[in-house]
Amino acid sequence: MDKKRVLIVGGGFVGLRTATLLAGGMLKNGEVTLVSTSKHFIFTPWLVDLLAGSIPLEQMSADLSDIAKRDGFTFIHGTVSHLDYKKKEAVIETANGQQTVLFDAAALCQGASTNFFGIPGAESYAYQLKTPDHVERLRAKLDTFDEQVSINVVGAGPTGMETVFALREYLESKGKKAKICLIQAAPRILPGFSQRLVDHAKHELAAASVSMMEGDPVVAVEQDGVRLKSGSKIAAQITIWAGGIRPNHIDTQPSLPNDPAGNISVDRTLQADESAFAAGDAAGILNPGNAAPKTAQVAMEMAPVLARNIVRYLEGRKLSTYKHHSKGVIITAGRKGLLELGWKISVSSQFLVWIRNQMYRFRFWQMTGV
Ligand SMILES: Cc1cc2nc3c(=O)[nH]c(=O)nc-3n(C[C@H](O)[C@H](O)[C@H](O)COP(=O)(O)OP(=O)(O)OC[C@H]3O[C@@H](n4cnc5c(N)ncnc54)[C@H](O)[C@@H]3O)c2cc1C
Repeated sequence: MDKKRVLIVGGGFVGLRTATLLAGGMLKNGEVTLVSTSKHFIFTPWLVDLLAGSIPLEQMSADLSDIAKRDGFTFIHGTVSHLDYKKKEAVIETANGQQTVLFDAAALCQGASTNFFGIPGAESYAYQLKTPDHVERLRAKLDTFDEQVSINVVGAGPTGMETVFALREYLESKGKKAKICLIQAAPRILPGFSQRLVDHAKHELAAASVSMMEGDPVVAVEQDGVRLKSGSKIAAQITIWAGGIRPNHIDTQPSLPNDPAGNISVDRTLQADESAFAAGDAAGILNPGNAAPKTAQVAMEMAPVLARNIVRYLEGRKLSTYKHHSKGVIITAGRKGLLELGWKISVSSQFLVWIRNQMYRFRFWQMTGV
């Protein structure tokens, strides 16, 4: 049998893990190529710790070319601009120009970017928190204030919550004070979590003197604050956007079906169409009752199913299905961690921060081997 070629787009949680699994033995007679815009794998759940100053960048990132050499796949540093899954070829933009790569199966794992929802001024004035560069830029801005700074954090999901406490920690370590406001469009903070967890979170926010706005969406971001739907303005020297994500788009031929949020639609096998598969933040599963949140945990869970199904597709065998099982979530709120286990258990404890960090260390090792 000819060697089968698998192309993986995106060296994040699902792409890198899938490449490692396939090259590590699941793909018996084949070659794996991973293309990624970023030279490094970044453990994004630690970005808030990078902001707080409690972890250096070297401990939360790993060089993809080193991992590729060790694990036996090819790494190309570049951006896939076009993918034709009928002709089975992809165009990659690299520092040395365009390159075309042929494949037998492709996995679209290009993740997501900040979603500003077209809100006027948001993209120009708000700071993002998706990459280490974003964190670097925000910290440089925070460093320009001598004693006190006012900050709006837009979006009170887990990332917005953790960001508030990371900001406090960073500024306190520099002997600075901050007036922070957490703004949530939805009727309450932490949508999708139980009321008990929300109560724990509100208690920690109050203890950290963070003010809160719920149920009042931001309609404009300005240089000196945000305007809300109710008409009020919340003035701040810095606005941080943690308001949502949108999948990174790649031009495909024929055009792959997207759901209304722009995710590549896949069924529970993670197949989009013929030779094209998709998973992680870029994909949306077309199965009512099996919605998977856009998290690193889910992306890592999808990788073994994705790798197995690529092999089965290449061998003409029946594909298996992915089913999301929530393993619980820990959200850090300063010195405390808030744990939610399937709506029934919500706990707030300092010990949870230690557990979360041990878990992250283990997952980082699973992803990178270091
Ligand atoms: C601040 C922050 C905190 C978070 N905290 C948590 C948390 O505590 N727990 C949790 O489970 N999740 C958390 N997440 C979410 C988690 O980061 C994502 O769900 C996860 O990274 C998704 O994995 P992925 O592989 O789909 O995408 P990513 O990990 O984003 O990887 C996508 C990769 O594709 C590359 N790429 C993009 N476009 C192209 C292209 N055209 N060609 C080639 N390469 C491309 C990108 O450079 C990137 O390397 C957090 C995210 C952020 C931003």
